[in-house]
Amino acid sequence: MTDNAIEISGLSKTYAGAGSEPPKQALKNIDLTIPRGSIFGLLGPNGAGKSTLINILAGLVVKSEGSVKIWGFDQDVNPRQSRAAIGVMPQELNLDPFFTPRGSLDVQAGLYGVPRSERRTDEILDMIGLADKGEAYARNLSGGMRRRLLLGKALVHSPRILVLDEPTAGVDIELRQMLWRNVRKLNEDGMTIILTTHYLEEAEEMCDEIAIINQGEMLIRDTTARLISLIDTKTLVIKPDDTPPADIPLPPDAELERRSGGILAINYAKTKTSPGDILAALRDAGVTIADVSIEEPHLEDVFLDLTRNAQTRAA
Ligand code: ADP
Ligand code: MG
Repeated sequence: MTDNAIEISGLSKTYAGAGSEPPKQALKNIDLTIPRGSIFGLLGPNGAGKSTLINILAGLVVKSEGSVKIWGFDQDVNPRQSRAAIGVMPQELNLDPFFTPRGSLDVQAGLYGVPRSERRTDEILDMIGLADKGEAYARNLSGGMRRRLLLGKALVHSPRILVLDEPTAGVDIELRQMLWRNVRKLNEDGMTIILTTHYLEEAEEMCDEIAIINQGEMLIRDTTARLISLIDTKTLVIKPDDTPPADIPLPPDAELERRSGGILAINYAKTKTSPGDILAALRDAGVTIADVSIEEPHLEDVFLDLTRNAQTRAA
């Protein structure tokens, strides 16, 4: 038995080039485990290979090498069980315009062999806020409603794992909040969630653990908190009482940035110097302090750091 929802090892994917294009290696020897019960974020810039990885999990793209286990079932050995354990909300809208939401959910349930008596069509329509649109044609639904229907389709067979590929790219705030409310609720009820997003704030807020991939390679995988703690820079923000002096000597490993309105922002290495030392230096320089706050690093800083370093290495 395993405690992992997903176990990927040595996974590679090379797409054959169309026409005269050369083949494209989209994933390079990826190892990744995703624990059961988590909300896991797969991050990376455009073209990193996120959708390729997710589509391999979904059984939509055939891998070139490696092994994939979903809820303990090897994709190659137990394709039916591994497919039943996972539901995927794809990045692309791929709805049949001639189906109604109710019809789409029914067809999807049929594909997964869910018996009529066990279908949860009304419950799902309700959850995705389409209870009153069950009989409307998909082509008459707004973009947001169609995305919600894609979420519904991913849920018809009550999968253990729900995968969302950029679910909030280009959607309005209301839909985004609805999606996240649903995702949180499903996770609380025991579903493992895997999502890709390029909104790093969103990943920071939603995900317990994160993997960052770039150009098909895994750069790092850790808890969100530990990734953020990797960044050594914090910022002490001071609002002075009067115009601050021109010359403000600071401890080494602290750097002054003057912001508008006379605000002083001091970036410092948190392992090397302390806010106390910086405040003392400011007082010595004659700065009178009206207000103080500290800005914490964000996932964005980690991401930029890592992807930038990888670029430098590749160059
Ligand atoms: P992401 O989702 O992180 O933006 P993708 O997995 O979509 O990245 O793409 C990874 C790389 O594989 C990109 O260079 C992309 O152009 C290429 N790629 C994706 N799908 C195909 C395909 N069907 N045929 C050829 N190349 C592809
Ligand atoms: Mg993608």
